Amino acid sequence: MTVLVTGGAGFIGSHIVDKLVDKEYDVIVVDNLSTGKLGNVNPNATFYCMNISCNSLNRIFSEENPQYVIHLAAQVSVPNSFKKPITDCTSNIVGTVNLLECCRKYGIEKIVYSSSAAVYGEPQYLPLDEKHQISPQSNYGISKYTAESYIKLYQHLYGLNYTVLRYANVYGPRQEAVAEGGVIAVFTERILSNRPPIIFGTGNQTRDFVFVDDVVEANILALTRADNKTLNISTNTSTSINELAEKIKNLKDTEVSPQHSQSMPGDIFTSVLDNSKARQYLGWTPRFSLEEGLRKTLP
Ligand code: NAD
Repeated sequence: MTVLVTGGAGFIGSHIVDKLVDKEYDVIVVDNLSTGKLGNVNPNATFYCMNISCNSLNRIFSEENPQYVIHLAAQVSVPNSFKKPITDCTSNIVGTVNLLECCRKYGIEKIVYSSSAAVYGEPQYLPLDEKHQISPQSNYGISKYTAESYIKLYQHLYGLNYTVLRYANVYGPRQEAVAEGGVIAVFTERILSNRPPIIFGTGNQTRDFVFVDDVVEANILALTRADNKTLNISTNTSTSINELAEKIKNLKDTEVSPQHSQSMPGDIFTSVLDNSKARQYLGWTPRFSLEEGLRKTLP
């Protein structure tokens, strides 16, 4: 079976590709290396350096004949989505529609899409479940949700099966210190270079940190389960940024203490996602505690 992975040179995508190769799928990676790295791409996957919004994507589908698509390629930075909204739309919306057109024309069986908790916006209640109102507070959140909406429309119009996975804050090896949810990568980089991590505001703001191997598992399960469902992928556990900094400090056994600076405008204060629907429909459960995940992440 052939699986085409967009964004397979990136942080999460490259881990998914490794797992698919381990499981002896034929894997095709499409990535324009805008934030991904060639060195992340498993040598047993076939790699195409291409923008997903490019018309030549058709040629890859026609030559490689994939049955499944796992779609991660995206402009992933919330700040950049404000600075460069057109780039954000082009990758996240136009790129997704171009991909969906290929899925339709070449009879793809299923698409698994990486979405984000950013679609919910400011929580009205916690934990956030999939019925929570959609009210994105960034261009990124809008473009991720618009892509979801196109995917659902293609199911309705053309019968293309999908699973949408909305991630909390993903972390793990290969994460760059800049991307969405990259606070663990940023803190680690600073602590390793003996610089204090900077905490915006009080540090009492909370996040739901999910380890990348658990996210990989959800994507693999979604190839054959949870058709036409939208599922949160999270731990349902909230950790404050202060607690996180303390855990990293203890694991690295360092004296470097965090510094506080002004809070970021628009920063959501608390975030934790209900994962019961993913447990029910995927038979998935997060296996890594934050401590275990951090141990696997910290060099
Ligand atoms: P990443 O930047 O490491 O991966 C994105 C990959 O897509 C990169 O390899 C990049 O080169 C590629 N790419 C970007 N635009 C492209 C385009 N137009 N054409 C082809 N390739 C393109 O980021 P990541 O953290 O691995 O994110 C993967 C997916 O997960 C994204 O869709 C993101 O929105 C989603 N997500 C991530 C998190 C997180 O915490 N990391 C949280 C929620 C959702």
